[in-house]
Amino acid sequence: MTAASASQPDVDLFVVGGGSGGVRAARIAAGYGARVMVAEEFRIGGTCVIRGCIPKKLLVYASRFSYEFADAVGFGWTLPQPVFDWPTLIANKDIEIARLEAAYVANLQKSGVEIVKSRAVFEDAHTIRIVATGARIRAANVLIATGAAPYHGAAISGIEHVISSNEAFLLPELPRRVVIQGGAYIAVEFASIFAGLGAQVTLVYRGSNVLRGFDEDVRAHLHGEMEKRGMTIITGQTVAAVDKAKGAFAARLSDGRVIEADRVMFAVGRHPNTAGLGLEAAGVQTGHQGRIEVDRYSRTSVPHVYAVGDVTHRINLTPVAIREGHAFADTVFGNVPTAVDHTNVPTAVFSEPEVGVVGLTETVARNLHNRVDIYKTTFRPLKATLSGRDTRMLMKLVVDGASGRVLGCHIVGEGAAEMIQVLGIAVKMGTTKAQFDAAMALHPTAAEELVTMRHPTASHQRASAQ
Ligand SMILES: Cc1cc2nc3c(=O)[nH]c(=O)nc-3n(C[C@H](O)[C@H](O)[C@H](O)COP(=O)(O)OP(=O)(O)OC[C@H]3O[C@@H](n4cnc5c(N)ncnc54)[C@H](O)[C@@H]3O)c2cc1C
Repeated sequence: MTAASASQPDVDLFVVGGGSGGVRAARIAAGYGARVMVAEEFRIGGTCVIRGCIPKKLLVYASRFSYEFADAVGFGWTLPQPVFDWPTLIANKDIEIARLEAAYVANLQKSGVEIVKSRAVFEDAHTIRIVATGARIRAANVLIATGAAPYHGAAISGIEHVISSNEAFLLPELPRRVVIQGGAYIAVEFASIFAGLGAQVTLVYRGSNVLRGFDEDVRAHLHGEMEKRGMTIITGQTVAAVDKAKGAFAARLSDGRVIEADRVMFAVGRHPNTAGLGLEAAGVQTGHQGRIEVDRYSRTSVPHVYAVGDVTHRINLTPVAIREGHAFADTVFGNVPTAVDHTNVPTAVFSEPEVGVVGLTETVARNLHNRVDIYKTTFRPLKATLSGRDTRMLMKLVVDGASGRVLGCHIVGEGAAEMIQVLGIAVKMGTTKAQFDAAMALHPTAAEELVTMRHPTASHQRASAQ
């Protein structure tokens, strides 16, 4: 594919949004010699760097020390009562975020990309208006990489008192009591963060269990483990109203229960950032909740306009947005048509305990394959024997009975994310269970269980195949 042309374009590529996808696309395109401009209305780095993955993981690290302190006693340590200071954590986190933002800016500049600190909107399919200055830029190609933003669901009474993850990163003090509504990864992660830091946490979710779409065993196991760590999980309910009283809040649930809290946070979903972008003027088609419809090369309904990352709502993860941005630049400016493979993307939930998954859940595998073998184990990690912590790890392999191929790996427990990144390679390669077993165990580790599960714990034949 070749770059489309506009009459006397000012730039070869205009990127709207300086987040994970936009920054990667801009740098790679500039590397191919394109004249590139990127507009960012908030902070370069986007959600992941400024108010997503990175600050979240820093808070996760902070929250896990409390378990380490408690576990240390069984190993002979005597510690003074540890004292946690939220403002120190937030200030240090902000310093690191600013450092990363500066590095992103420097890398863009080094690549020759021009940065415009402003909101940018379409005037027509080839013209972008810089809102801060009113300048109009003619672009041969446009990449929409505007990401997504928190969405609070249907308006309820007191919704103005509710915070999202954006504000949670900036709270002046650690709330003593937190109500979080939501059941997906952001809700579960923040519940774990606040609980680890010492807050009393109630997670309210309208569905039957947290982490919808994950393997049922993972969902059940995590639910139980979160409760063991003191979090209260209320399912089948919603927050119907939030009242403010005496400097605190009261979350009224759909069944009439009232839970008092210092903060009420919603993490019920994120919608693509397409409102007010001028997509109609450009003729770019959108779908459900405003997501931009694209083909496998991230091309929209307008041939020279592309979109990558969360705004397309394919798989909303940073490495996916980066890969899509890179593939777009290779396709349009490197003349190497590159489609991103969205299968077998490893995912982690940085809850306490952690979840790591790659590939198919048991339910999906059983719908797709005639015979599915399940290898599942739960066990007490070695560390828990001396710490005395009441916890178990879950490991589960979903295997195609016909070919022996490992279709899915599911882990709940310490180190799950690190393990699943490596397992992602094996699953992507189409590795079989026999090849897993041929790998020598590394002892003593939790991960050795992955290569020592000898017999299936269940074997399922698809009804239609019987
Ligand atoms: C709390 C949280 C935790 C997360 N944790 C993880 C994780 O652990 N791992 C993971 O892989 N992913 C995680 N994610 C998801 C990840 O952050 C996103 O998938 C990723 O940032 C998407 O990149 P993007 O380029 O599509 O959009 P973004 O990174 O959101 O960038 C879009 C940018 O566009 C800007 N923008 C929007 N409209 C305009 C406009 N009109 N003009 C100019 N600029 C505009 C925005 O300000 C933003 O900076 C997390 C997200 C959240 C919210």
